[in-house]
Amino acid sequence: MTLIAGAAGALPIGRLLSAPSTSSQPEAADLRAVKLSGAETTIERAAVEDFRASFRGPLLTVGQEGYDAARRVWNGMIDKHPALIARCADVADVVRAVTFARERELLLAVRGGGHSFPGYSTCDGGLVIDLSSMNSVRVDAPTRTAYVGGGAQGVHVDTATQKEGLATTLGEISHTGVSGLTLGGGFGWLSRRFGLACDNLISAELVTADGKLRRVSDKDEPDLFWAIRGGGGNFGVATSFEYRLHPLNPGVLAGSIDYPGPQVKDAVEFYADLMSNAPRELSIDLSLSPGADGQAIAGMRVLYTGDAKGGSKVLEPFQKFGKPTENTIGPTTYLAVQSQADGPPLSPSNNYIKGGFVREYSPGLIEVLTREFRPDDRIFAFFQNANGAVADVPQTATAFSHRNAIANMMLWGHWHDASYNEQGRAVIHANWDKLAAFTDGYYVNLNDADPKGTDRNYGPNFARLATLKKQFDPLNLFRLNANIKPA
Ligand SMILES: Cc1cc2nc3c(=O)[nH]c(=O)nc-3n(C[C@H](O)[C@H](O)[C@H](O)COP(=O)(O)OP(=O)(O)OC[C@H]3O[C@@H](n4cnc5c(N)ncnc54)[C@H](O)[C@@H]3O)c2cc1C
Repeated sequence: MTLIAGAAGALPIGRLLSAPSTSSQPEAADLRAVKLSGAETTIERAAVEDFRASFRGPLLTVGQEGYDAARRVWNGMIDKHPALIARCADVADVVRAVTFARERELLLAVRGGGHSFPGYSTCDGGLVIDLSSMNSVRVDAPTRTAYVGGGAQGVHVDTATQKEGLATTLGEISHTGVSGLTLGGGFGWLSRRFGLACDNLISAELVTADGKLRRVSDKDEPDLFWAIRGGGGNFGVATSFEYRLHPLNPGVLAGSIDYPGPQVKDAVEFYADLMSNAPRELSIDLSLSPGADGQAIAGMRVLYTGDAKGGSKVLEPFQKFGKPTENTIGPTTYLAVQSQADGPPLSPSNNYIKGGFVREYSPGLIEVLTREFRPDDRIFAFFQNANGAVADVPQTATAFSHRNAIANMMLWGHWHDASYNEQGRAVIHANWDKLAAFTDGYYVNLNDADPKGTDRNYGPNFARLATLKKQFDPLNLFRLNANIKPA
């Protein structure tokens, strides 16, 4: 943790910044903050007030009403105290905030939906650019296009697009931010059919480190457009996205099927076989979670978005396989599926995840998963489908390079007791060590900073990304992400 030496001696910055205050007025003192280098700095109160005067949204400092609520992010494990939270009302606010941070070389975090597992959208002692108020969605049904603010969540987009019988790929939890998700790739129920969220981007507006607002698309700033489709938040603040939409009937076939203990290995093999040849309208997530008897349960969450007749045929193999304890497959809506696994928008749990892409469900992987991995109430395994339309895009056509994966495999830990944090992380790492050999690259939207280097995140696109990073962000202002250091 960063330390600031002051009159009270060296104290963790989180404690200094969170000193209780009952005032809802700006405090009179200068603001202590942290620079990109990690060194402490002071921001004069007058500078803060000038910034505030030029800013349309609320600019929150410690002790102000709303500060504590605004500093919370989804993961209950993350408890940080920014010096300033800039809740941007519009693009001009974003430009001002980027400029304020760059001129002072302040540590900067950018927050879309706040769902980063490692907590990259907040920081201790720096400035947070919070886009959550910029969440407008406009759907142009005739051109099948959606214009979406950088602070929107999946539910905002899905609700507006489904009204028109349209959709685009977004994540499977409705309160996840579209920004982080899209910039890192973006898997969801529809990615096998329509590609990743980033594959459906037509253009975006981006405020780069120099404070310029740029439209990026195939025609405008094509290098930057390439880089933000998988390069995470490394290249600037995306203030809006233009997405391609697809016709999607709101009525779908979906549900879950569970196979208990003795059937788990067969169920995983059945799943692997089914998904290797499945039509693109079918998506199935597999989880290994604990059953009441302490043994694992193989759970399959199923969505079929084609017509009902085709669905019965595609799902026929389930009728012939095993003895599930639960089978809830039936007609429902796409919107219901998109929120079926939602927890509260701010997780009450401490969450930690490790994930990596798998290219095949090899016998070795299935053996380790079903014989050596033991899910319990604090850890489960999860496979999200890749493949299908994701693999239609060449590996170097966008910054997202993991086009050959069949799934994204994750070990997800969650617990309430903060004293278990260290042990929880160790348990996940110990289990991950047995599975890592079966993975090929990491998903930038999940993991803590990769100790083995960013080529595991960005594959063959890493060198081009590092060159572009040097061109557009030589200071590495946007560093709280799966960071690409300027070449
Ligand atoms: C409950 C849950 C479910 C998830 N489900 C899925 C899923 O189905 N599919 C999937 O692919 N992923 C999924 N994820 C992972 C998700 O894609 C990432 O956590 C993603 O980063 C979340 O985006 P966000 O805007 O909410 O995050 P934030 O925490 O706000 O940001 C994450 C990163 O993106 C940067 N960033 C955010 N907004 C911007 C912006 N506008 N401009 C520039 N940089 C920005 C941040 O600085 C940070 O580095 C899930 C995560 C959670 C917690």
